[in-house]
Amino acid sequence: MSDLTADAVAPEHPGAGNPAAPGGARTVAAAVPPSLVARLAAGVTATGEPDLVETVAPLTGERLASLPRSTPADVEVAFQLARRAQTAWAALPVRRRAAALLRFHDLLLKRQDEVLDLVQAETGKARLHAFEEVLAVAMAARHYGRAAHGYLRDKRRGGALPVLTHAVEARRPKGVIGHISPWNYPLELSVGDALPAFVAGNAVVNKPDTQTALTALWARELLVEAGLPADLWQVVIGDGPVIGPAVVEHADYVSFTGSTRTGRDVAQRAAARLVGASLELGGKNAMVVLADADLDAAAAGAVRACFSSAGQLCISIERLLVHRSVADEFLERFAARTRALRLGGGLAYGADMGSLVSVRQLETTTRHVDEAVKAGATVVAGGRARPDLGPFFYEPTILDGVTPDMAVCAEETFGPVVSLYRFDTDEEAVAAANSTPYGLNSSVWTRDLRRGRAVAARLRTGTVNVNEAYAAAYGSIGSPMGGMGDSGLGRRHGAEGILRFTEAQTVATQRLMPIAPSFGLDDKQFAAVMTGGLRVLKALRLR
Ligand code: NAD
Repeated sequence: MSDLTADAVAPEHPGAGNPAAPGGARTVAAAVPPSLVARLAAGVTATGEPDLVETVAPLTGERLASLPRSTPADVEVAFQLARRAQTAWAALPVRRRAAALLRFHDLLLKRQDEVLDLVQAETGKARLHAFEEVLAVAMAARHYGRAAHGYLRDKRRGGALPVLTHAVEARRPKGVIGHISPWNYPLELSVGDALPAFVAGNAVVNKPDTQTALTALWARELLVEAGLPADLWQVVIGDGPVIGPAVVEHADYVSFTGSTRTGRDVAQRAAARLVGASLELGGKNAMVVLADADLDAAAAGAVRACFSSAGQLCISIERLLVHRSVADEFLERFAARTRALRLGGGLAYGADMGSLVSVRQLETTTRHVDEAVKAGATVVAGGRARPDLGPFFYEPTILDGVTPDMAVCAEETFGPVVSLYRFDTDEEAVAAANSTPYGLNSSVWTRDLRRGRAVAARLRTGTVNVNEAYAAAYGSIGSPMGGMGDSGLGRRHGAEGILRFTEAQTVATQRLMPIAPSFGLDDKQFAAVMTGGLRVLKALRLR
């Protein structure tokens, strides 16, 4: 690791590079004392002799926490406890369950500094990017707190026979949801995605990534304070390939966020048990800058799009497609903004970008950039690690001259690296944007909003932002968010984001006469009456 970071400081960049943000006075050790770790660790379902697993603070490389590791037997216990709690919870009226979400919303906003410290300590991201998680979770809590009743209430549907058949579509909770989440947005992807599951009447067994388990445990504590029965949300932690399959093995439905590779494995295990799964997976997202775009706005948007959470954001942009006529001018403005970004790891606002989370992320980022440069790509900004700031810092990096043979062209880097490509026509831009197997998020920049929406309609991604990077679509919480192609199955947010945690049940009540020969009609007469009836229904435009 030390070799890697030392070597990665390219000698051709002496002294120059992104400025350091002023550091905060508080240390990670002071913000996350052993007493807090012990309190939160008590929320892990792990019985027997404690087998501890250690995490490291990415900002400094120091030990952060020792947490009890769950075993597959603990996962079974977690499901038993959750299942018992779920029955009583599901019997409550939706509005009572929703009240817990609305109280959680208020508590989260009030106590946000506690969790901002934890998210920064566990991920190394800048405080502004940690705050995006608070924002997203509060929006989800408010939306589902207010709208759950409408999504879940019984809906009257047309019956088999008008007047005679009364049909209602009801929504029943799935039961216990197996919820597996990654490290990159530990607050949003643990509790944010669990909220609609809870309000729909389910319990949740959550396996957060061990690196960011404290954030999930903190969120659990807060949601319990807001009124969630404690056993309803079980947290198990441990090695992904061991504990993850154990969670899938017992779940009534699986909600997974992570890499496409793991997602395929989870999907196969869920399919073998005939339980449903939603899979929020990776991306290689493109931003299209049309010739008429406001270039300053697009350059500022590209900085947010590419470097939020140091690019460790599933919907972040790794490919910039820019109309040839404005590409040089755009690149100049974008590069100037990128070089000015202040890097830092203080537990305070002020840094524009923080650290990567781990040596693994640093290695992939370094490899993608170094291989591309070796094969002929040009570094326009960044292109090197910054061990002077912390063990996993890497500068926000812009590459030009990237060709399809380079890994950085089509593989997800999941780091602060973006490549710029030029195009001449909308057709070319659309084809290039759609050229990877992924289909998560994209962004289009133009002064002509109608044209922007027309281009958006041709992009094969689950979300498209016009004149914004990612926050417009992600923050539109009443609309679905998720991936096409290798980026996943199913959607979070909106109706789909909550209905996935329910089973549809149709309850149809028949009155006065059966749907069969009756009142003295023989089979043939019944068929004739029904045939006439169907023709009348069509003529009357009744279904
Ligand atoms: P990952 O797939 O390695 O791990 C995700 C989670 O799955 C972790 O909790 C891990 O412990 C667990 N896991 C590992 N092996 C498992 C197995 N065999 N069975 C079940 N669970 C297992 O992904 P990661 O590196 O932690 O996260 C980064 C990836 O997540 C990136 O590809 C990113 O694009 C993607 N992501 C997608 C979204 C989205 O909404 N589409 C959001 C965030 C991250």
